[in-house]
Amino acid sequence: MSPVIPSRADATGCTDVRPLVERGQREVFCGLTGIMWLHRKIQDAFFLVVGSRTCAHLLQSAAGVMIFAEPRFGTAIIDERDLAGIADAQDELDRVVTELLAKRPGIRMLFLVGSCPSEVIKLDLSRAAQRLQQRHAPQVRVLNYSGSGIETTFTQGEDACLAALVPELPAQSATQAPSLLVAGSLADVVEDQLGTLLQAMGIDVAFFPPRRSTALPAVGPNTRVLLAQPYLADTARALERRGAQLLTAPFPLGVEGTTAWLQAAATVFGVDAALFEQVTRAPRERGIRALAAHKPWLEGRSVFFFPDSQLELPLARCLQRELGMRLTEVGTPYLHRQHMAAELALLPAGTRLSEGQDVDRQLERCLQDAPDLTVCGLGLANPLEAQGLSTKWAIELVFTPIQGYEQAGDLAGLFSRPLRRRELLTAGQAVQRAA
Ligand code: SF4
Repeated sequence: MSPVIPSRADATGCTDVRPLVERGQREVFCGLTGIMWLHRKIQDAFFLVVGSRTCAHLLQSAAGVMIFAEPRFGTAIIDERDLAGIADAQDELDRVVTELLAKRPGIRMLFLVGSCPSEVIKLDLSRAAQRLQQRHAPQVRVLNYSGSGIETTFTQGEDACLAALVPELPAQSATQAPSLLVAGSLADVVEDQLGTLLQAMGIDVAFFPPRRSTALPAVGPNTRVLLAQPYLADTARALERRGAQLLTAPFPLGVEGTTAWLQAAATVFGVDAALFEQVTRAPRERGIRALAAHKPWLEGRSVFFFPDSQLELPLARCLQRELGMRLTEVGTPYLHRQHMAAELALLPAGTRLSEGQDVDRQLERCLQDAPDLTVCGLGLANPLEAQGLSTKWAIELVFTPIQGYEQAGDLAGLFSRPLRRRELLTAGQAVQRAA
């Protein structure tokens, strides 16, 4: 096993830490999973996965928890005939899209989403998108991105989708006053709360992706971008190519993270300290009270993060600094030092960070650490529970609204609940034994 020794421990937290980098077998969803929340966010878009029955099953089982009368995603199945080159997959795709648009005239934006099978047969989806765009303009915009497990993990699907959308954003006029663009999908309720706070400070803010594809925000050199999600490396680069300037801030998780995130915007837009305090005081105090209710269950307990959604560092920061948890290992699929700079600085020096995965080795470390709580993917949770560990499914942290002040208590609750449950079970078993 490789040694896990942080390279430096100093006052800048984990800024200079050298993570343990592993490139072995990994246990993580592919980027198609992002469709589960993106299709709810952009309400007039449709996501057509060009993939196999396996891809369709993944979408159906992931979506099983949220049945809609008319889901805004589907799969164009690549079958054996396509794989064998007998049928022209491009012709098949044209037919499926034409039928879909005839049946669903409300679709304004269509994403052709690549998968492992479409990559294997080298189906050129960008050419297909251009051709279909010409055919169906101006009613529908057709774009493409890859959600394949070969190229993307879990939350990278959203990054690929938004990066594909950036070239479609209208150009901001040169004379327009500076404005704020918050990038990354947030639940509508969170978006409304954060938007209200920013507007109360006098900041002109737009969110990306928008709720409707016809309301794309403008971008240009006067755009300041605040990332709401930590997994948007390609999207941030695409926005910077359009002239936008990226602000560095911790992510809006927990009270401290939300305050620092809002402060980054307030500073660049010249909001005075008194106004900032006036706008944030009440929700901040509510958030602090909500966190305090969970602290007795979490303080002093240890937590181990397997890499999954790229939310691990901000979550670990919140659990350690605001809820007093001890970090045994914080794994992340990728460590983007620039986007994570503020988070790294806030993590305690000496935290064991790991990037990528070699699942067997990581399981060994986890079992050796025997943490009070392990945050991991669905596939690892049952085996770890069987070994007596309490687990939290990482995917829940992506599907649950956890950003902002009003959600701070819900965020803490996601971590305290498994510990409470185990304590109740243990107490119940003790009573049974005594009876
Ligand atoms: Fe599986 Fe690849 Fe389809 Fe994802 S894109 S469901 S990894 S075949």
